[in-house]
Amino acid sequence: MPAASTDPSDPPVVVARVAVAAPLGELLDYLGPASGEISPGQRVLVPLGRGRRLGMVVAVNQPTSVPVARLKRITAVLDTTPLLRAQDLSFLLWATDYYRGDPGEALFGALPGRLRRAHPPLDDRPLGWRALTPATAVQPHLARAPRQREVLALLSTAPQGLTDAALHTALGDCTSPLRALAKRGFVQRCRLQVSTATVLTQHPQPDPPPALNRHQADAEAAIAAGEGFGCFLLDGVTGSGKTEVYLRLIARTLGAGQQVLVLVPEIGLTPQLRERFARRVPAPMAVLHSALSETERERAWRAAAAGQARLLLGTRSAVFTPLPDLGLVIVDEEHDLSLKQQEGFRYSARDLAVRRAQQAGCTVVLGSATPALETLHNARSGRYRHLRLPERAGNAAAPEILLADIRAQPLQTGLSHALLTRMEQEIDAGNQVLLFLNRRGFSPVLTCHDCGWVSECAHCDARMTLHRDRALLVCHHCGLEQARPVQCPYCQSPDLRPLGQGTERVEDTLRQRFPGLPLARIDRDSTRRRGELERLLTAAARGEHRILLGTQMLAKGHHLPGVTLVGVLDLDHGLYGSDFRATERMAQLLVQVAGRAGRAQRPGTVMVQTRHPQHPMLQRLLRAGYGAFATAALAERKEANLPPFSHQAMLRADSPQAQAALDFLTQALATARALAPAQVEFWGPAPAQMERRAGRVRAQLLLQAPTRSLLQGVLAPLLPALRGLKASRDLRWSMDVDPQESL
Ligand code: ADP
Ligand code: ZN
Ligand code: ZN
Repeated sequence: MPAASTDPSDPPVVVARVAVAAPLGELLDYLGPASGEISPGQRVLVPLGRGRRLGMVVAVNQPTSVPVARLKRITAVLDTTPLLRAQDLSFLLWATDYYRGDPGEALFGALPGRLRRAHPPLDDRPLGWRALTPATAVQPHLARAPRQREVLALLSTAPQGLTDAALHTALGDCTSPLRALAKRGFVQRCRLQVSTATVLTQHPQPDPPPALNRHQADAEAAIAAGEGFGCFLLDGVTGSGKTEVYLRLIARTLGAGQQVLVLVPEIGLTPQLRERFARRVPAPMAVLHSALSETERERAWRAAAAGQARLLLGTRSAVFTPLPDLGLVIVDEEHDLSLKQQEGFRYSARDLAVRRAQQAGCTVVLGSATPALETLHNARSGRYRHLRLPERAGNAAAPEILLADIRAQPLQTGLSHALLTRMEQEIDAGNQVLLFLNRRGFSPVLTCHDCGWVSECAHCDARMTLHRDRALLVCHHCGLEQARPVQCPYCQSPDLRPLGQGTERVEDTLRQRFPGLPLARIDRDSTRRRGELERLLTAAARGEHRILLGTQMLAKGHHLPGVTLVGVLDLDHGLYGSDFRATERMAQLLVQVAGRAGRAQRPGTVMVQTRHPQHPMLQRLLRAGYGAFATAALAERKEANLPPFSHQAMLRADSPQAQAALDFLTQALATARALAPAQVEFWGPAPAQMERRAGRVRAQLLLQAPTRSLLQGVLAPLLPALRGLKASRDLRWSMDVDPQESL
């Protein structure tokens, strides 16, 4: 390591703590740059190993444990002004610490894409020219250059400068006089100020809000009365007008000169929702989500950070966007799994939203018709204020839910006689029907009728799904695709049969059963083209399709006023899933899908096909509603000492070598035990539910502690210790704090 120079003419020693964009798991100290100042929030280039890396300064002149003589020097400073403020950095570092993430990965992950690389911040102000000297002062020098005089005279009238386009319009082509003037130092190339209005939406005349009903008004008043930090759970049935409450709160906050952050699940951020917000929010609004281009994201991010966007509507990573005047945070559909980042820097955007509001000293509202059990527990234990909207807004009535017992029933491609009859009635009456089946493709497996061969994936412990439209077998876990075989690869029999059904197959049956009836299938395959999902949903909301058939994608937040019947084709695998959260997810999904029925004037019915009509959790959900279900589910969790009554972290590992993951986790377990007090429990290491995926053998070790602080107390020394294990360098591993899913 080269020693720092100690020339006495050097400026005083500045030590910068830097989050380097490399998986180091810690911050590194560097000497400040050879010249110029350095502040937290600026990106820098730093020497690392034999190369140079991008980094972000997070602190300056903190005590360092490294002797100054051994510190290397920052090579270059990339930003003239910091990209992140002190609050943003402290929030990100807090999150990194809590989730045991890598600081570089977390900080750079929070920036828009181009800024994660060494690019300068986007500058899309138009180029132009500016006068450096008034025309009058240099008149004599230009006596014999009338064109230059003309150009300089015009520029002198515009101290901010003029765009190339404006100059051209006024004076025609003035390239050569400008070049001559620049050479003499009379004019300068410059960028002109314009607003970032391109990313902001604001309606000139926002729609007037409807009068709130009593429950909505009470909720609004309770939230608005809060001062400083406070967390509210807005627990309102689907269609109860939660969004209306948000819009009122937003208007208040904007009126008080503050900014608002609204987080929604990935799929919830439809054009319908954007449009609804844009029409109602009386201030400039920006939107951030993954389908935007890098440039669009950066513009929106910058508009929010500069305080130009007063409302930021975004998906999970928007929680990290700098908002200098933050006064309100809203998390819609707070139970939704897509608010959890499941790879790289793993975090819960919902939980971070609460932390962020706490840091800003403002209100946070978590809204859902099916709150997560964690959130309900926080509400019931008084940590969050629990507000309820028990009725649908306007005149819509709650849907009626019927169970169709399909044991010993002949099914037509998964459709019972009872459901088909009901569908016919609704369709004859001019209504729309929505069918939900959470399985895409034609059939989940292809089998050989002669020898029993099944279409297994070569890289996963899973079957390959038949996609008939594309004549492919596809593994939904690793993405492997193969041409659909014409004969059995094992016994060469041509008698290959699809077993079970996915949405493609149900579509097929429905088209035969209801010939000519407009039908839309909405799943990941039918909506691959950009904009297709939006197009289908808009058409569906207008009533163009009489049958809507889809997966998960159809279950969330969409307003489909013409739907009077919702059919749930297969609920059962949610009832007996291996994950302890399976019933919670089943209940949330069922209530959310059911919420699509009868959202307008016409009453709705939900028909759920099941082979377990007596399942106690299902019965409770249907008879007594989600709240009663949640009470019982929480009691079970408490009994079993599961979250939210305990706190977990999941250490996962995978490797192409059969034993590597388990071996590493066995060492990890020994390391962790040595660090942990007796109250901390360990489950595993154990092979993952699907042990082999994408050619890698996976295993996991679960840590569980009675309190967060006990868990954090183990994790803090554990991660550096794990990085120190030789085995950790030979495979892929990750720590997931507050995991939502097992492997
Ligand atoms: P949620 O967010 O709880 O699903 P929304 O806010 O989307 O509910 O409201 C559902 C429907 O009811 C929307 O069409 C909305 O315009 C309408 N609505 C909400 N509040 C009222 C109200 N107070 N009066 C009349 N209609 C309302
Ligand atoms: Zn065969
Ligand atoms: Zn696979």
